[in-house]
Amino acid sequence: MYIISSKNMLQKAQRQGYAVPAFNIHNLETLQVVVETAAEMRSPLIVAGTPGTFSYAGTRNIVAIASELACSYNLPLAVHLDHHEKIADIEMKVLAGIRSVMIDGSHFAFEENVSLVSEVVNFCHRYDVSVEAELGRLGGVEDDLVVDDKDAHYTHPLQARDFVARTGIDSLAVAIGTAHGLYTAEPKLDFDRLAEIRNQVDIPLVLHGASGLPESDIRRAINLGICKVNVATELKIAFSDALKHYFADNPQANDPRHYMQPAKQAMKEVVRRIISVCGCEGQQ
Ligand SMILES: [Zn+2]
Repeated sequence: MYIISSKNMLQKAQRQGYAVPAFNIHNLETLQVVVETAAEMRSPLIVAGTPGTFSYAGTRNIVAIASELACSYNLPLAVHLDHHEKIADIEMKVLAGIRSVMIDGSHFAFEENVSLVSEVVNFCHRYDVSVEAELGRLGGVEDDLVVDDKDAHYTHPLQARDFVARTGIDSLAVAIGTAHGLYTAEPKLDFDRLAEIRNQVDIPLVLHGASGLPESDIRRAINLGICKVNVATELKIAFSDALKHYFADNPQANDPRHYMQPAKQAMKEVVRRIISVCGCEGQQ
C-alpha cells in the first residue's frame, strides 16, 4: 500500500522550485496511463478524483487499483479528493485509505470557510492526511461544480495569510484568473497577485484550471510559487477524441483491449507534456 499524503511531495517541490501535477482520473485505463507515465519519467504523482468520479468508479476500487499500481511501479503516489465539500464524505474516504484531501468551502463567506476547513484539518491530521483548501473562487465548470463568472473572485493575499494561519491547511488553492474547463477567451493571470500571496503565505500553492493555459503561463506561475498543477479537461479531451477517431476508422471495433489503446496513448502524450512543463521529471 503506497498511497501517501501529498504533504511531503509538495513541500519538496516548494523547496526545489518545481510543481507536482495532479491528474484527474476516472477508471482503470486513465489510472494506468498516469501511473505508468509518471513511473517512466520518475515524476512524483497525484491522482485526483471529484466526488462524481469516486461515485462512478467506487472509492475502494480506485484505492485498490492505485495501491496495486503504486506497488507494481514502485511509485508511492497520492490519491487526492478534488473539490470535496462534505465532511462526512471526506471522513468515509479517509477511512477507506485516501491520504490527500481538498475541502472546498470557497462558496462560503470567509468565516464559514475557515470553520469548515478547520474541522476537516482537525480530522485529517489525526490520520496524517494532507489538506488543501481554496480561498477566492474559480469560475468555469468541473463535473457538478458550476461557477458563473459573476460569482468568481480572486484570492486576497492578506486574507490568505489569515486563512492559512487559522486553519492549519497544508496547501492553498489560489484564484488568480484561471478557470475550470476550457477557456473561451485568452486567460489573463494576475501574476502580481500570485507573487504577493507567496510573500504572505509559506505553504505550497495550488493552481486549478491549468487545462488550455499556455505553457509559459504555467512555468511562470511555478516560478512564483505554484507547487501543484491540476489538469483534468485536457486529459479527457485527448482520450475521448482518440477514441472517437478510432471508432470512425474502425466502426466494427468491439474489443476494449484494442480500442482503448489509441485513447491511452493520446492521454499519455498530454501527461508527458504536463510533467515536463511542471519541471518534475526525475524528482521522485
Ligand atoms: Zn479545481
